[in-house]
Amino acid sequence: MLNLMACANVPATTQKSVNAVLRRRQSQSWSSQANSVLSFKSVIMAHGLAVQDSRCVWCTLKISEEGHRTAHRDHIAPKGQYNQWTFLPVNLAIACEYCNGFKVKGELNTVSVPADQYNHSEFLIVHPYLDDTNNHIRFVDNTAGYPILIEGISERGVWTIEKMALASPYITKLRAQDFVFARETEALAAGELELLKRAVDRHT
Ligand SMILES: [Zn+2]
Repeated sequence: MLNLMACANVPATTQKSVNAVLRRRQSQSWSSQANSVLSFKSVIMAHGLAVQDSRCVWCTLKISEEGHRTAHRDHIAPKGQYNQWTFLPVNLAIACEYCNGFKVKGELNTVSVPADQYNHSEFLIVHPYLDDTNNHIRFVDNTAGYPILIEGISERGVWTIEKMALASPYITKLRAQDFVFARETEALAAGELELLKRAVDRHT
């Protein structure tokens, strides 16, 4: 999974407005069509795609706003259970539809001890902003340059890999394909590589 340094910087006026929507509409607030909510969502998406280099925070595979592997705004602590954190930028990262969806994360409870202040809560999951991912998860033989086989090196690392299915055959195979593709294309001339990337991006 990705290690993220800073969450989106949402303009104060937008943040104030979405907080008001949250107070009014509670669990319905995320699907509100209010301008402030739409604007908040677009700031989160633009920031997330940029700092995450269009990769899913959990499985690290490439995503895009449209196409086969679409980008979702993932509430790290699920908004269904932690409604109060619906519009908290530090609770949001960009994930692929597979990791964010019902088959993997869905409404998975990721918090063991919620606190009034988000950052003081205890999490079950490795938190992409609040934790250093490298203290919890690593790739086997990564020193040789193979970021494919993943393993947990802390209790939360193990929990995250298991619950987020990061070591599943499906995701491991996709990671291997990604790695092999990157390695094989290194030998291509810049122009050829650009053409290939454009062709691939159209289908991912
Ligand atoms: Zn993913």
